[in-house]
Amino acid sequence: MQNSEAFDYIIVGAGSSGCVLANRLTASGRHRVLLLEAGPNNRHPWLHIPLGFGRLFNNRRFNWCYQTEPQPECHNRRIIAPRGRVLGGSSSINGLIYIRGQAEDFNIWRQLGNAGWSFDEVLPYFRKAEDNERGADQFHGVGGPLAVSDLCDRHPLAEAFVEAALQSGHPRNDDFNGSIQQGAGYYQTTMRNGVRSSTAGGYLRPARRRANLKVVSEALATRIVFEGRRASGIEYLAGNEERRARANAEVIVAGGAFNSPQLLQLSGLGPASLLQSHGITVVADAPGVGDDLNDHISGRIMLRCKEAITLNDAVRTWSGKVAAGLRYGLTRRGYLTIAALTAGCFLRTRPSSATPDVQCSIALYSGDLIGGMPHPFSGVTGVCTLLRPESRGYVRIKSADPRESPAINPNYLATAKDRETIVEGVKVLRRIFQAPAMARHIAEEIEPGPQCVSDDDLLDFIRRCGSTTYHPVSTCRMGNDATAVVDQRLRVRGLAGLRVVDASIMPAVVSGNTNAATIMIGEKGADMILEDAAAATQVSAAA
Ligand SMILES: Cc1cc2nc3c(=O)[nH]c(=O)nc-3n(C[C@H](O)[C@H](O)[C@H](O)COP(=O)(O)OP(=O)(O)OC[C@H]3O[C@@H](n4cnc5c(N)ncnc54)[C@H](O)[C@@H]3O)c2cc1C
Repeated sequence: MQNSEAFDYIIVGAGSSGCVLANRLTASGRHRVLLLEAGPNNRHPWLHIPLGFGRLFNNRRFNWCYQTEPQPECHNRRIIAPRGRVLGGSSSINGLIYIRGQAEDFNIWRQLGNAGWSFDEVLPYFRKAEDNERGADQFHGVGGPLAVSDLCDRHPLAEAFVEAALQSGHPRNDDFNGSIQQGAGYYQTTMRNGVRSSTAGGYLRPARRRANLKVVSEALATRIVFEGRRASGIEYLAGNEERRARANAEVIVAGGAFNSPQLLQLSGLGPASLLQSHGITVVADAPGVGDDLNDHISGRIMLRCKEAITLNDAVRTWSGKVAAGLRYGLTRRGYLTIAALTAGCFLRTRPSSATPDVQCSIALYSGDLIGGMPHPFSGVTGVCTLLRPESRGYVRIKSADPRESPAINPNYLATAKDRETIVEGVKVLRRIFQAPAMARHIAEEIEPGPQCVSDDDLLDFIRRCGSTTYHPVSTCRMGNDATAVVDQRLRVRGLAGLRVVDASIMPAVVSGNTNAATIMIGEKGADMILEDAAAATQVSAAA
């Protein structure tokens, strides 16, 4: 690593957690940090306008646009697997829903042996991150870098959905991130005054003024360099130029659930047979690297509406687009501020479930393809997400070339329980759409349609049309069993100077959306890194 620029910490990936780390590790001024991001800067307007998420699904400039391997339980379909590839990572292109998960999710992490990760122990980090426009309370914080707001506008169809859920017997819930998750209500979102709050905006922008932070975008980390069993730096590609940087303290991998295990495998950490089959020298035979991929799958029903008040109607004509643009420009309100989903209901499909096992939501648009053109008629989508999928898959390199996509196999619907729960969930979702408050707006269900009645038919529909909710985790799983990749302080087990701090460390996916929990992991990870640095300084001062 001679002749390479030296830093204390090198962070790979400027996503939800990478930007948090860059901010917190540079705040004291004591540590020099390099932040590498494969994607470009985040200046494009669609990265800031909330509705931009719909424009970025297929945008190869800001999105890795991955696809899964053929899914055996989904008629061998390849399913889209978008990921942010830009400053802010997936927090710059996501659907803006702010849901942390259930307290029980984190208590299970703790019960699996991960000391420090119970809900009571992670709650302070959720609060620290947050600037909730509703103000502070036991569960919420103000003054943090992540703006959390109510929707700018309450749409009549979202009102109707909540009312219909109440009519179907579900309780009202005005705060899904409060004492209880169950019930129906509106989502809060990561935006403020009609503008997206990504980690690039909230955390990275203020930190970039600091002289001790160097940010290099359009820089693909290709290999972690080891000296013995200590990570000592990074090799990366800036354009076609190969560069190296030295990390005197640590390399921190924050590339997300697909790219973090890919980088570890490319660097010689992973299943030995996989690495050897690609001619990669094995640094550590770590069979768990890339294993256990866990993701949310959804069933999506589509309904034609009676009134021309859906997003489909607003964007169908040039005059509608201009009106929405003008309204946004003048007031920061209107259709351009809608999030991917507006209102929802967390519920238990069976009495034996201790906590909600599905999330049902309404989206104010419909279309044949996710991220494609909306239908040429008024339509909405009902989304049912399986909250605690048992199915697990993997991420594995397909080549030693870091520019080549890894094989991504979430193994959706692999267990009978997953299949049964999502079928029950879609049935409940349909009942909400059939309740009087919603039914008066609906002309007909177009997908799967009234002919689809039996459980077998519904399951076949989900196999045919089900898709991800974009929450892959667990490919560098935290734990203390033989195949866990990181320990409870997020250090890669068996190696020195190397951590993984991003969504990939979650032992299992949380029962909600994953951005908030990943930002929490970034906050907690930064604290642990700084504590360990302080302890190391004390030891060397005493010696
Ligand atoms: C389309 C979409 C919609 C979503 N909707 C929601 C939602 O509404 N609410 C919610 O809570 N969550 C949502 N999520 C999920 C949430 O955004 C992610 O779980 C979270 O952002 C993951 O954070 P991360 O830090 O693990 O990875 P990311 O935020 O994906 O960041 C990883 C970063 O590392 C970079 N990188 C990767 N490899 C390298 C390398 N080798 N060298 C350099 N840089 C590298 C990537 O380009 C990326 O910028 C959505 C995600 C997507 C994709």
